[in-house]
Amino acid sequence: MRALMLGPPGSGKGTQGARVAARYGVPHISTGDLLRAHVAAGTRMGRAARVYMERGDLVPDLLIAAIVLERLAESEPSKGFVLDGFPRTLEQAQAAYGVARETGILFDVVLCLDIPHDELMRRLDERGRSQGRADDEVATVRHRIEVYQAKTAPLREYYEGRGIFLAIDADGSVDEVTGRIFAALDRLPGA
Ligand code: AMP
Repeated sequence: MRALMLGPPGSGKGTQGARVAARYGVPHISTGDLLRAHVAAGTRMGRAARVYMERGDLVPDLLIAAIVLERLAESEPSKGFVLDGFPRTLEQAQAAYGVARETGILFDVVLCLDIPHDELMRRLDERGRSQGRADDEVATVRHRIEVYQAKTAPLREYYEGRGIFLAIDADGSVDEVTGRIFAALDRLPGA
């Protein structure tokens, strides 16, 4: 299983990505988690990423590419993974496709978590209160959603064109959404 989780901040990518990874026994690779770990550890990459993350902006492509490649090299990517948070721009997707074609490690499926705007704002507000994530403050959340619409949403068309796109209704309880994802994956040819 080589899956990519797509969806706006607060759509449940992290939670659902971990469950998909556990079901197939593959690593869950979250670029947001990797970046937060670099920031917490005060590494050079973390220090470079921090300002962008606090503003709710994307970190530069070269930085994210270095972080993803470093992490992928630690596992055996050919055996599968659930990638959560990368690619997040068309440029990143094209770069990832270039590397993937050379290594033969292409995504099998892109799971896109669709969620109504009001429910998204409610969840992010809740997460800001309970987890205290620095980038879950209201103004930053708004900006992150704008960045998602402008930079990441176009990936939908890109992956639809490659025939590996699965839209999932992510409005519901965590278990309901997991059920929908697993059912959709079981319907894939060759599953
Ligand atoms: P997330 O936990 O996925 O919402 O990511 C948190 C933050 O990490 C984002 O708001 C970005 O600043 C940064 N980030 C994560 N993945 C990427 C990526 N693929 N490209 C650029 N920035 C990223």
